[in-house]
Amino acid sequence: MTPATIYDALIVGGSFAGLSAAMPLARAAKKVCVLDSGQPRNRFAEASHGFFAQDGVAPLTLKAAGREKLAAYPTVDFVEGEAIRAQRSDDGFVVETLHGERLYARKLVLAFGIRDHLPDVPGLAERWGGTVLHCPYCHGYEFLNQPLGVLRVTPMSVHQALLISEWGPTTFFLNGGDRPDAETLGHLKARGVQIEPAPIATLEGEAETLDGVRLSDGRVVPLAALYVATRTEMTSPLAEQLGCIIQDGMHGPLIVVDQIGQTSVPGVFAAGDITRSMHNASFAAADGVMAGVAAHRSLVFGPLGL
Ligand SMILES: Cc1cc2nc3c(=O)[nH]c(=O)nc-3n(C[C@H](O)[C@H](O)[C@H](O)COP(=O)(O)OP(=O)(O)OC[C@H]3O[C@@H](n4cnc5c(N)ncnc54)[C@H](O)[C@@H]3O)c2cc1C
Repeated sequence: MTPATIYDALIVGGSFAGLSAAMPLARAAKKVCVLDSGQPRNRFAEASHGFFAQDGVAPLTLKAAGREKLAAYPTVDFVEGEAIRAQRSDDGFVVETLHGERLYARKLVLAFGIRDHLPDVPGLAERWGGTVLHCPYCHGYEFLNQPLGVLRVTPMSVHQALLISEWGPTTFFLNGGDRPDAETLGHLKARGVQIEPAPIATLEGEAETLDGVRLSDGRVVPLAALYVATRTEMTSPLAEQLGCIIQDGMHGPLIVVDQIGQTSVPGVFAAGDITRSMHNASFAAADGVMAGVAAHRSLVFGPLGL
């Protein structure tokens, strides 16, 4: 039986953070495996905005370009699959995939991203990434000066309503929930935000477009886009299995890392949306580069006891 390959680093998640982490390791000629299940968080959007030199490029095109660049390095392997278990092994770590493959590595970089919990409002899920959005820096300019809405979901939604009014006249939909306190109402009024207390019946419009929000009392508020600060969860339990410290962030749980992406478990690094409350592809890529460099340096300095 051929002995299993022991990679210098195994990267779980091959999108903005994971592919960026792989690059410095590849460029140090380390043996790297990128394990990816092919479901980046922004796959619902037609275009990704704001990424350096790539504004407006489709998310999956960006990801494919990242893979192609890495594939030029002969020490990089790509495995399609979903990691379901991770634990320590004699030489580092072993990660098992859904299809029973076992991958061994001296260092791990977790970059498996998060998923969004969409509120249960009829017509919302099918518009996610098109006219129902989470981030105005990513998808705000496209709706500039048009009527915009913010759906109250979490305490962060007030913050979102205050911000979105920068892009267009904004209505804050309480969707039958409690009215904000007087001070918050004052801030919203100062930014020109309208408050709509009634529960939402459905979102209206052809396919992905949005014409407006129909309220339970039959009124329709015309809108071009609706912003939602979703609650999020990690796509994988790997960090918990490995014993990494996890904390609540603004939108959901996050893996605690230091400035170089080292988790609380020696040899395990993490990067991207799973480590921060502000999410975009540029932050994830930058985090990934840092975690990749840190993983490489730990391969060099760890054996020296440094
Ligand atoms: C609708 C929408 C639109 C967005 N638009 C923009 C935009 O225009 N500009 C911008 O900068 N940002 C945008 N974002 C934010 C951006 O998508 C994220 O910040 C970014 O994708 C985070 O990168 P990541 O590498 O951390 O995670 P992801 O890109 O989500 O990648 C995680 C990868 O890990 C894989 N994975 C998950 N679990 C496992 C597992 N168990 N085993 C193996 N692989 C696994 C997934 O399949 C995926 O490929 C948008 C987000 C959403 C929701």
